[in-house]
Amino acid sequence: MLFSKVFIPILKNDPTEAKIKSHKLMLRLGMIKQSSAGIYSWLPLGFKVMKKIEDIVREEQNRIGAQEILMPTIQSSEIWKESGRYEDYGEEMLRIKDRQNREMLYGPTNEELITDIFRNSIKSYKSLPQLLYHIQWKFRDELRPRFGIMRCREFYMKDAYSFDISDDDALLSYNKFFLSYLRTFKRMELSAIPMAADTGPIGGNLSHEFIILADTGESKIYTDKRIFDVDSNLTTIEKNSLDKMRNDFEKFYSVTDEKFDQKIFENKVPEKYRIKTKGIEVGHIFYFGDKYSKPMNASVDFNGKKEFVKMGSYGVGVSRLVGAIIEAKYDEKNEIMKWPTSVSPYDCSVIPLLNKNDKSNLEKSMKIYNFLKNNKIDTILDDTYESISAKMKKFNLIGIPFQIIIGKKSDEETFEFKKIGEEPKKLKIEEIVKIIKNNK
Ligand code: ATP
Ligand code: MG
Repeated sequence: MLFSKVFIPILKNDPTEAKIKSHKLMLRLGMIKQSSAGIYSWLPLGFKVMKKIEDIVREEQNRIGAQEILMPTIQSSEIWKESGRYEDYGEEMLRIKDRQNREMLYGPTNEELITDIFRNSIKSYKSLPQLLYHIQWKFRDELRPRFGIMRCREFYMKDAYSFDISDDDALLSYNKFFLSYLRTFKRMELSAIPMAADTGPIGGNLSHEFIILADTGESKIYTDKRIFDVDSNLTTIEKNSLDKMRNDFEKFYSVTDEKFDQKIFENKVPEKYRIKTKGIEVGHIFYFGDKYSKPMNASVDFNGKKEFVKMGSYGVGVSRLVGAIIEAKYDEKNEIMKWPTSVSPYDCSVIPLLNKNDKSNLEKSMKIYNFLKNNKIDTILDDTYESISAKMKKFNLIGIPFQIIIGKKSDEETFEFKKIGEEPKKLKIEEIVKIIKNNK
């Protein structure tokens, strides 16, 4: 894309209404635009990042054998009355009446709907396990929406659901999602720590939150430094390896606020390894057995006996991750954002010094731009006549990982190429393409 044509409405200064750096940067770069409290439009730069995050989430769900579906945003209250959560969910649920006066709601989560789909379709234990997921907008009428898209009312979430015949099988499903979450966040260059968590309104007794450390996070966490070194590079999803991996994590004390116990923390974690800080919850997984299948009568035939299926649910905050990555990767002091290459809005930027009376640099830049495009490298070319320092400042903020700078002295053969925030090197265009492709 040419910079003069893209829809990136950049502000000169940080907006005053934003309190944390991700919110500031997202407004400043025009990644999002608030439409009402806690409800946002996603503009091209923000939307591109979110879509890349969504693709990674999807690939890692598919990799453990989960199947994608799409459930609606609007649900009927009937199924929520069956599970008993229609009253319990309280004010966070947005309730709507249709023209026939039927009680509907905008889904905050989908345990009921998926259970309803399951019970009408799957009859035999031979079809289990079933791992199903969708990526869809959710609405929760949060009391205090804040921090931009980090805690909003309408947000984009991946939610998966597992159905098994026994607790043992269900734990295997749980561990598969546990691994897929580690893989997902790693591909975004985030170290998300699994922490034992409370189950809240979803219910059940086994649950982990995946949290990235950040001072601006809303979750208080207590953990052990050594957990960062646990090996999660599993290449298989076979039971014993998964059990071992979860065990390796659970050897280390790592909990959120609600589960915290000072005595146990001090006993289990030598002082030099203790971490007491804040974090951002980017994923949350639950095992809750027959909490929904029993009241909603979701059973399968197991050797002539009726068994209620054992279920788990698994959420990733796809839209929240955009903010979480900024919190982790934005150097606010020097105004340099560094998107991980896997989610960056573009792969490369071409930043030329342009002169209205001399078209040679523009021609040279267009050639490079077309060459990169033909090599499937998503590139943005700054074809404006701003000064090179103004352009550099702008592109440091936008955070695209690679920059090609066409200055006064650039020749025809080699170009100044740099990784954002690092020193430039003179390289041939073929070498540049190779580096960018190797980092994708
Ligand atoms: P939180 O504790 O942050 O309120 P939750 O426990 O209510 O979240 P879950 O039901 O576990 O959330 O939802 C799964 C994921 O969806 C969370 O891990 C989070 O990343 C994301 N999420 C939840 N609520 C919001 C929100 N209001 N705005 C943006 N993302 C959210
Ligand atoms: Mg949660």
